Amino acid sequence: MYGGIEAGGTKWVCAVGTGPEDLLSRTIPTTSPAETIGRALAFLEEHGPLDAVGVGSFGPVDLDPSSPTWGFVTTTPKPGWANTDVAQAIRGRLGVPVAFDTDANAAAAGELRWGAARGLDTFSYVTVGTGIGGGGMAAGELLHGLLHPEVGHMRVPHDLAADPFPGSCPYHGDCWEGLASGPAIETRWGARGEVLAARAEVWELEAGYLALGLTNLVFALSPQRIVLGGGVMEQAGLLELVRGRVRELLGGYLTTPVLEDYIVPPELGSRAGVLGAIALAVRRYAQ
Ligand code: ZN
Repeated sequence: MYGGIEAGGTKWVCAVGTGPEDLLSRTIPTTSPAETIGRALAFLEEHGPLDAVGVGSFGPVDLDPSSPTWGFVTTTPKPGWANTDVAQAIRGRLGVPVAFDTDANAAAAGELRWGAARGLDTFSYVTVGTGIGGGGMAAGELLHGLLHPEVGHMRVPHDLAADPFPGSCPYHGDCWEGLASGPAIETRWGARGEVLAARAEVWELEAGYLALGLTNLVFALSPQRIVLGGGVMEQAGLLELVRGRVRELLGGYLTTPVLEDYIVPPELGSRAGVLGAIALAVRRYAQ
């Protein structure tokens, strides 16, 4: 039996189980670290004993196993959460192995085990919502490194004549998520995406930006597939627009696979995060 926590900036989804057919979950709001972690631990203890726990966390996070602050949320601007120990606290209290990774890498692990990335060893997972998050695997290992992938902060071309919006990223202005996240859409157009659903120019611009970043991922990481999810991607027709723009931007350089099988939605839907955390626990237990 495994425990999983999708540790988000607004809510934590905690679960115990073994997979999509066997999952008991509870959602708690993200308040103070002590209260939030305490409630998550209480849930896991109530439904234990557990063999391992996985945590997919908002970030940035420390993933270096040799670091004294492994398992911490580090420099987040979220009030009260900078330099907060998450994984060591859970491991200390429950006394079981704990896997800790980014929320995007956790979701990638879930899609690998039960979803749209089954059978692959090199793929990308990108989610477009309140930010743009990305993770994935290379040669069967979740991507870590200097920090961890932060694809949302990639720089992409920005034609200020066509789109004078300066971007919404507090660090970079017009990085990828500064131009194409949900809040960027809302700030640029003055309304939430749902309200703008019928305005073609909104989604043509959005698809153009998303395709720029995805094309960079294709060339830089050579993923066998890109799983593309998040709230913004629920806009009808957006995925098809993105595939079309990616095809244009690839420019015939790669012998591209059929994009309908290459840029695909997640299969685990709204449970991708928490099932990903369970998948991290399964991987950790198998080590
Ligand atoms: Zn940025």
